Amino acid sequence: MTPTDLSLDVSTPATRTVLISGASISGPALAYWLHRSGCAVTVVEKAGTPRDGGYPIDVRGTAIEVVRRMGILPRLRDAHIDSRRCTFLDADGSEVASLSPSAVAGGVEGQDLEVRRGDLAAILHALVRDDVEFLFGDSIDTLDQSGQGVDVTFRSGRRRTFDLVVGADGMHSATRESLFGPEEQFHRYLGYCFAIFTMPNTFGLSHEVMMWNTPGKAAALYAVGDDELHAFLTFHQPEPPFHALRHPEAQRDLVATVFAGAGWEIPGMVKALRDAADLFFDTAGQIRMPHWSSSRVALVGDAAYAPSFLTGQGSSLALVGAYMLAHALATNRDHTAAFAAYERDVREFVAMNQALVDNGAATLFPTTARALERRDTVLRGLVTLPSAPARPAHSALALPEAPPAQDYDRRSVPPSGAAWARPVR
Ligand SMILES: Cc1cc2nc3c(=O)[nH]c(=O)nc-3n(C[C@H](O)[C@H](O)[C@H](O)COP(=O)(O)OP(=O)(O)OC[C@H]3O[C@@H](n4cnc5c(N)ncnc54)[C@H](O)[C@@H]3O)c2cc1C
Repeated sequence: MTPTDLSLDVSTPATRTVLISGASISGPALAYWLHRSGCAVTVVEKAGTPRDGGYPIDVRGTAIEVVRRMGILPRLRDAHIDSRRCTFLDADGSEVASLSPSAVAGGVEGQDLEVRRGDLAAILHALVRDDVEFLFGDSIDTLDQSGQGVDVTFRSGRRRTFDLVVGADGMHSATRESLFGPEEQFHRYLGYCFAIFTMPNTFGLSHEVMMWNTPGKAAALYAVGDDELHAFLTFHQPEPPFHALRHPEAQRDLVATVFAGAGWEIPGMVKALRDAADLFFDTAGQIRMPHWSSSRVALVGDAAYAPSFLTGQGSSLALVGAYMLAHALATNRDHTAAFAAYERDVREFVAMNQALVDNGAATLFPTTARALERRDTVLRGLVTLPSAPARPAHSALALPEAPPAQDYDRRSVPPSGAAWARPVR
């Protein structure tokens, strides 16, 4: 036996290898925590580069503590969008009410963060890109768990074996579909579709949101600074348009049909939608699953428990879920026990946040004239009130302490199936 052989003694288990599918929010956040606790992490992302774009997103409550522990809170504070007003308009564009954004969404002013989704994704990617292997422009083709680990075939043709695989590939997760079957059985459709894109700010808007409503339809212009303008069109649709989800032209046609003849700035928005290169279209829906793992494969973020944009909690759940999954893996040598602990400790937090829209998915976007009038009355009343209090659900999970960071030697490739990491000598 050579000295090198000695270093692979079974009493010093080797590095756990983990493949994460998806490099948006939950994927890089999980990669950070897994690397910190000694795993060798690979992230595969079907896009060619980290994906930019998307409407500004909120980071609140428990998720603020996660990003603080990751050391990125100062960078996120720098990226914080300080939007000052949210003005509601009626069908012909007349003002209904003008409020502070936190009066509408609930939250802790000065503490909660609102950042461009692309900025959050870029900050997370920058945090881990030197420590983690990224495979952009590729995706998982097949997963085979019949051996010691998970044998993965990629679309590119490469083949690798990992101890564990995590699907962080969003609401329409292919990892989930390959393990648990079609999305329809887990998708709780909330009755709305939405389209988001950027367009030229020819309106002179600055650090503010203008929100137009008629029953079942809403349009918003969100000026993130003085120039950058995000357009948002949402509408009530009784059945989810599954056919449109994978076809951008069908999405454009659907939105244009729904908003035909609408007033205010809608015709210009629909025209801009036709030309938008960064259109993001989806249904407002939730993913509700009885289990988030199967053998050596688990799900995190929207793939497991998308709460829908109506809760404003998608990114916060993704960050907290990533932390808790990595924590469970760092404190349980056995992945089955780790995945069980992850589900046990996170499920109630997820349920509370998904429940935020149980009795009022339509609060901001009423579908009837009466409900819209009721909402407008409430909004007018809020003008003179201080900010709405933070929702208890946002902070309903007390984070366990992060295990101490490990300094691991990843130069030697571990045997597949090894339970845990090996410290540098
Ligand atoms: C470009 C973009 C824009 C968005 N805009 C908004 C928005 O405006 N409002 C909103 O509420 N939410 C938006 N979201 C969703 C929001 O980011 C999530 O709700 C939340 O942050 C949870 O993040 P996640 O990382 O779990 O999932 P997601 O952010 O959905 O990320 C999933 C990632 O997996 C990648 N992926 C998907 N399938 C595969 C595959 N088969 N193989 C490899 N990679 C795959 C995707 O490209 C993406 O990078 C957007 C997401 C994206 C990707």
